[in-house]
This record gives sequence, structure tokens and C-alpha cells, in this order.
Amino acid sequence: MAKVAIIGAGISGLLAAKSCIEVGLVPVVFERKNNVGGVWHSTQGYIWDSMTTNVSKYQHQLSELPWSATDPIFPHHSVILKYIEEYYKIYNFDKHILFNTKVIKAEKVEQENKQFPKGNIQYHNLTTNNKKCEIFDFLIIASGLNSNAIYPNIPQLKNFRGDIIHSIEYKEPRKYKNKNVLVIGGALVQRKYHVK
Ligand SMILES: Cc1cc2nc3c(=O)[nH]c(=O)nc-3n(C[C@H](O)[C@H](O)[C@H](O)COP(=O)(O)OP(=O)(O)OC[C@H]3O[C@@H](n4cnc5c(N)ncnc54)[C@H](O)[C@@H]3O)c2cc1C
Repeated sequence: MAKVAIIGAGISGLLAAKSCIEVGLVPVVFERKNNVGGVWHSTQGYIWDSMTTNVSKYQHQLSELPWSATDPIFPHHSVILKYIEEYYKIYNFDKHILFNTKVIKAEKVEQENKQFPKGNIQYHNLTTNNKKCEIFDFLIIASGLNSNAIYPNIPQLKNFRGDIIHSIEYKEPRKYKNKNVLVIGGALVQRKYHVK
């Protein structure tokens, strides 16, 4: 049976794994942390204390797992995490996931007379510190859009005398009370800070 390497056990990685199982592929999900849920897990560091979703629970609903009527329309991040963990339990993904395991390299292995190349995946077990390579038939990258902080290239920014943080470090508003705060970036996250 064809083997599929999936990078990331956020919601995208779990959905990809489920779809692989459904069509008879064998998924192996590599997750560098020791939990599922990706950005929705507080240990990943992306979310702030009061964060709720910016789209309704109906748009976040997986067809196999309906929300209960009592769940808020715009759930708190902890509710979304519980929902993803519930999904994880229902599909018993345990045997398909390698936690604390970071993919550090992925390269094609060309083979003569084969339509598709295979992939050589190198991964690092962060618990044992062992590195291994394994050949897979397919690779799905579900490592998230929001994994790394991106700082704009603003000339002279280093001369700014106030504190500078990236939104990835923001946790709660009290620290900024009665201060003039300039927020760079006008999309959804910025609007939420502004309301706070
Ligand atoms: C502040 C914030 C608010 C958001 N609000 C909403 C919202 O309200 N509604 C909405 O629909 N979406 C929202 N999003 C978008 C959110 O990114 C998606 O909802 C969704 O959770 C993304 O899931 P994902 O599985 O693609 O990625 P992620 O959740 O980022 O998961 C990626 C996983 O890959 C792992 N990983 C990364 N690199 C490696 C590697 N090399 N080896 C092994 N593992 C690796 C990470 O540890 C992580 O667990 C928000 C995002 C942020 C940052």
C-alpha cells in the first residue's frame, strides 16, 4: 500500500490523514510538538487569551462532527481546540502520528520508468534526538500558513525607542493600557486588537 508522509497535525494534517485512510493509503503524520491542533493549541504560541474565531462555528464545522446547539457562534480558541481533539479521538489517529518529530528535509528520489518519483523524508525525533530517513510515495505539506512570524522591512525600525512585538507574541491587552500603540497591518488580527 502506498505510504503518505504528512507534515503537521493541525486540522489540515488530520483531515489529510483521514482522507488517506478512506482511500486505502497509509498516512504517517509528523508533528514537531506533542499535541494536535496546531495554531489552536496555546503551547504553539499564536493565540491570545481572549481570542475567538472570526468566522462562525458553522463555517468551521466538519461534516462528521456537528457543533452542539449550546456552543457559541464564535467559539473561544479553547473550544476550537476541544473540537479538534474530539475529532482526533473519533478517528483514532494515534497509530498514524509521530509526535515530537520534526521533518527537516524532503527530497525527490527519481526512479527510472516510474511516472512519479518517490520522496525521501528526513525527520528528527526531538525526544530521543535521533535522525532518520524514510521513503514515501507521497508527501502532503500541512505545516500551516502561520508558522513563522514575518517582520516587515521598515528602515530605521531598530531606532524606535518603544517596545516592538510581533502579533505572534501578543497575549493580553492590560500591558498596553493608557499607552499609544501603533499597529502595523490592517487585516483581521489588527482589527481585533483595535477593538480591545
Ligand atoms: C491568530 C490566528 C487566528 C486565526 N483565526 C482563525 C479563525 O477564526 N478561523 C479560521 O478558520 N482560521 C483562523 N486562523 C487560521 C488557522 O491557521 C486555520 O484555521 C487552521 O488552524 C490552520 O490549520 P493547519 O493545520 O493548516 O495549520 P496549523 O494549525 O498551523 O498546524 C500546522 C502544524 O504543523 C506543525 N509543523 C510545522 N512545521 C513542521 C515540521 N517541519 N515538522 C513537523 N511538524 C511541523 C506545527 O507544529 C503545527 O502543529 C487563525 C490563525 C491565527 C494565527
